Amino acid sequence: MASTVRVRVAPSPTGAPHIGTLRVALFNYLFARHTPGGIFVLRIDDTDEARSKPEHVEEIKESLRWLGLEWDEGPDAGGPYAPYVQSQRMARYKEVADRLLAEGKAFPCWCSAEELEAKRQAAARQKLAPRYDGNCLNLTDAQRAAYQAEGRRAALRFRLPDGPPIVLDDLIRGHIEFPRDMLDHFIIVRSDGKPVYNFVSAIDEVDHHISHVIRGDDHLSNTPKQMLIAQALGFVVPHYAHLPMILGMDKARLSKRHGAQGVLDLRDEGFLKETVLNFLVLLGWSYNDKDEIFTKADLIEKFSLERVGKAPAVFDEAKLLWMNGQYLRKAPVAEVDADLTRRLEAAYGEAARRDAAYTGRVIALLRDGLKTLDEIVDQAGFFFADPMAWDDDAKAKLAGWPRGKEILEAVIALIEKADLFTPEALEITFRAGAEAMSLKFKDFVHPTRFATTGRTSGPSLFHLLEVLGRDRCLARLRAAPAFPSPA
Ligand code: GLU
Repeated sequence: MASTVRVRVAPSPTGAPHIGTLRVALFNYLFARHTPGGIFVLRIDDTDEARSKPEHVEEIKESLRWLGLEWDEGPDAGGPYAPYVQSQRMARYKEVADRLLAEGKAFPCWCSAEELEAKRQAAARQKLAPRYDGNCLNLTDAQRAAYQAEGRRAALRFRLPDGPPIVLDDLIRGHIEFPRDMLDHFIIVRSDGKPVYNFVSAIDEVDHHISHVIRGDDHLSNTPKQMLIAQALGFVVPHYAHLPMILGMDKARLSKRHGAQGVLDLRDEGFLKETVLNFLVLLGWSYNDKDEIFTKADLIEKFSLERVGKAPAVFDEAKLLWMNGQYLRKAPVAEVDADLTRRLEAAYGEAARRDAAYTGRVIALLRDGLKTLDEIVDQAGFFFADPMAWDDDAKAKLAGWPRGKEILEAVIALIEKADLFTPEALEITFRAGAEAMSLKFKDFVHPTRFATTGRTSGPSLFHLLEVLGRDRCLARLRAAPAFPSPA
């Protein structure tokens, strides 16, 4: 058993799963899959009853499945050490708490929240660290009875043994010593009977035979407590590997402030799972100085904890977009097109459904410039909306364009007469038309774009005119010269 690699991701279902959780999941998954016989466990840390929600458990499972991080043991999958959901293991935690109490390794504490708070404030006034003062450590039977008689309910505290610093040889962070005075006789079961995270987590690692705990370094301060609990129970302490924190571009710890960090939001915005997986692994791991694009199979082959750095990783949104563009270009066209069609139909309904060939041409035109799949909805708007929604910028530019009305009238005449409605033929016609009026080519091109799309930028003009088709182009150009006079 001891040599088997068994790792876990243990999300708390208190919100939609975010980038940080999925990064931890990915590193654990890769570590397990890289190691012959390695097992990847999904544990649900739902001891926070008030904030844990079943829908978030579903979102966690959905995001893991979306990224292809299938778990070997856990909810739905089952496994030899089931259950893997903390709220289903309360009897086990109670049994362990009773054992620690019976062995004198834990003790009841009757101090009320108010009393503890008053002591914390007093310590703060004296600029001392807020530590439990040991009030209930050595109570006499009479004192205990008195507390009980007051109707107080006891919390259970871990009796912190004296000793040398607690030593952690972290597989990423290296040798760390935690002096005992950083800790105190910490609570393991609250006075309402609820066990705390550090306590239940330490028990779970052992009961689930976890060999390596790979998680974010925000948990580093929990580790000595979990190690002490495991040791007090005579358990083998797992290896630990704390991943570097993830910062936003502003160098602050990544948080909701940094926009949509929900993993399912990324999917809905049109990031491919291949991109997200590749991007996530680079938040802490690197293979060498040059390679950045890795498939899941590459990662399984190449992943190791030795190549995980200590320095904080930076979540670079521009890089995420760039990478998604790369993957979109490589993805099977039929799959990408099917997804884009779904998005256009959802956004534009009948207008996108009416003529599959037209929608297909719109997609073919825009596909290669996309960085996310959902960008298509914004970029394709003018193909499906009649009348178009005008950008203020396009409106102002067209209204102020020198000889704008005259130019559009000339363009209308050219388009009416054009024999061939192809990008190449249109370009030749436009160049000749501009020359005939002693204008620059761009003086012809820009007003035509504003009038036919209501925008100042977009895909190549002659290609988009071709897709719009002669009739739509003419109708828009004819409507445009009067613009914006009614206002
Ligand atoms: N439930 C904890 C969290 O969501 C993780 C626990 C752990 O990995 O030890 O952050």
